[in-house]
Amino acid sequence: MVHHTENESGGQSTSSLIAPNAAAPIVAIATANGRGSIGVVRVSGEDLQNFARDLTGGFEPDPRTAHYLPIKDCRGGLIDQAIVIYFKAPNSYTGEDVLEIQGHGGTAVLQLLINHCLTVGKKIGLRLAEPGEFSLRAFLNDKMDLAQAEAVADLIDASSAGAAKAAAASLSGTFSIEVKKVSDQLTSIRTLVEATLDFPEEEIEFIEKYQVQDRLLALRQNLKLVTDTSRKSIYLKDGLNVILVGEPNVGKSSILNAIFDEEISIVTDVAGTTRDRIRETLTIDGLPILITDTAGLRETNDRIEQIGIDRTWQSIEKADLILDIVQVEQRQSVLSGWPNRTEWLNKKIIKVINKTDLLNEKELILAIDSDEILVSAKTGYGIEALKNAILQVADRQVGDVTPWLGRARHIEALEIVLSHLDNALDHAQLNDRVLDLLAEELRLAHLALGSITGQVSADDLLGKIFSDFCIGK
Ligand code: GDP
Repeated sequence: MVHHTENESGGQSTSSLIAPNAAAPIVAIATANGRGSIGVVRVSGEDLQNFARDLTGGFEPDPRTAHYLPIKDCRGGLIDQAIVIYFKAPNSYTGEDVLEIQGHGGTAVLQLLINHCLTVGKKIGLRLAEPGEFSLRAFLNDKMDLAQAEAVADLIDASSAGAAKAAAASLSGTFSIEVKKVSDQLTSIRTLVEATLDFPEEEIEFIEKYQVQDRLLALRQNLKLVTDTSRKSIYLKDGLNVILVGEPNVGKSSILNAIFDEEISIVTDVAGTTRDRIRETLTIDGLPILITDTAGLRETNDRIEQIGIDRTWQSIEKADLILDIVQVEQRQSVLSGWPNRTEWLNKKIIKVINKTDLLNEKELILAIDSDEILVSAKTGYGIEALKNAILQVADRQVGDVTPWLGRARHIEALEIVLSHLDNALDHAQLNDRVLDLLAEELRLAHLALGSITGQVSADDLLGKIFSDFCIGK
């Protein structure tokens, strides 16, 4: 195995995060739990040729060829007729020898296949895989970098088409390539700085001579773009948390239905019926929107309604966006009745005026205010504008393509890189420039950048990332 060993804590190899029998072959069911027409058992190990022969009763599978074979237990009883494919290292998912057994997708038959593998593989130390261990091995064997390995998990977990496409792009390396470009830029500046450190008499002119400031600024600009794009993409995965607030009967449920063109909330004429929050994940142009329709906010003596109202405040606190809904002729926001509640201060708010169908054309023109969106849930007027305004909160427009799927971990690392670059720029601008401080900031920036693709990674970080995977991946 090739290991990435450089790290801050003194060069401890990432290999140590796995158990002492790290190199032992592993086996797991690669397909989802439950019934299916096909189920795949996957084995990975350094040399599986003999194992493959033992498992198939003496057959020698050719690499990358599908063989239809009976798999029999140790007493010769048939377990399943399966397709067996042998991938010879390094041309496999993990970079080791991999054996895939595609059997029938029943829980019992797959368990029998696993048990049989464990029996046959006893002499080579075959054991059950930990969650994410196949992908961890792929990473350790340089089949993919850390950001790509994370994309595997994100692709599996993607709950919308947009998130799946962005994760697939990340897996193909779109994000890693951008990180590499920034890293190359940083390397070239660092090379200059480090070389000059050896010739102190040149330090003073160095910064001007090599236009270090300009180079740093260009680098910062690229990095900022990568950071912003990554941040935007997070919404694709986690969704935008949107809450509807407003007096009972202003049309919250109706607006929800109009936006998503589906009946997901009961619409009635009696004030206060939407007592429970309704949570739905829907999508606008591929962006998952986690909608919470709430109990109206008002003073009440009804204990049950009060519980709903308390929950509304909790939801407001967690929301990325508040749709503050009022209706024509009663344009006082319900939130204005609670000027001191901290839950809604500093939140993004879109004020929506509903029931504009009740106005005539002249009244409608007079009602227009650039800070508000006029809609009619009844006729559909303004609903597209409202959808666009919601997308804008996630920095998106209709038809936007997301080039990769970021993770909070990436954004944190990118922000650390940005802050070290800012410090480096400060050092480059000071009169009493201290080149070794500049060099140190650039080194730290590089280290943080390397943690994204796993060139530099602490053991506990790898453990955390891969333990979130499903078993068999
Ligand atoms: P909520 O209590 O805020 O969720 O309000 P609902 O969506 O239950 O709507 C309350 C009442 O207003 C219902 O009778 C709806 O038919 C009516 N309503 C909702 N939106 C509109 C609209 O755009 N125009 C008109 N004229 N009536 C509406």
